[in-house]
Amino acid sequence: MSSLVGPDEDDPRGKPPVPHEVQDAVRTLIRWAGDNPEREGLRDTPSRVARAWKEYCLGYTEDPSIHLARIFEEVGGYDEVVLLKDIPFQSHCEHHMAPIIGKAHIAYLPRNRVVGISKLARVLHGFARRLQVQERLTAEVSDCIWDHLKPHGVAVVIEASHACMTARGVRTPGVAMTTSRMMGVFRDDKRSREEVLSLMGF
Ligand SMILES: [Zn+2]
Repeated sequence: MSSLVGPDEDDPRGKPPVPHEVQDAVRTLIRWAGDNPEREGLRDTPSRVARAWKEYCLGYTEDPSIHLARIFEEVGGYDEVVLLKDIPFQSHCEHHMAPIIGKAHIAYLPRNRVVGISKLARVLHGFARRLQVQERLTAEVSDCIWDHLKPHGVAVVIEASHACMTARGVRTPGVAMTTSRMMGVFRDDKRSREEVLSLMGF
């Protein structure tokens, strides 16, 4: 069976070692789920799962605000909304460690300071690659932009489906949860809020 797995998948050389207790924890979970962790197909699963979790949770190794450190102050008088729409992301819920898969819309109204547009996505991924609840993810992304760019307004809307709800529990596939956070003019001024929401497609 191992011939079905590509060499990169199976070859532990060059990969960070996984402590025995972490592998044992995964074996315990496999046994708890009802399978035999010693059978051939599952033999290397504990180390793969452990490395995968390091990758899912890569956000713990960085402060997402570093992506907002490089600011451009020469904006040529631009004073309209900057929006990055439909940013796909993946996170994991802190209650079940199950995938949260969705997309985010991030907008701000600059006050003489802008960042490279890809940086907004990097901030999102920095917070998403942790154990999360969607409400906190929404708040952390918007607070980070608010604190570091000091814009007139920030608007973050996140739509996501939660595997802990679609694949277990009430088992309702296709249901998405929407959270939003409006700050500054997007909170205080109805017209600005309506404008940014319509740019986002709502
Ligand atoms: Zn959950």
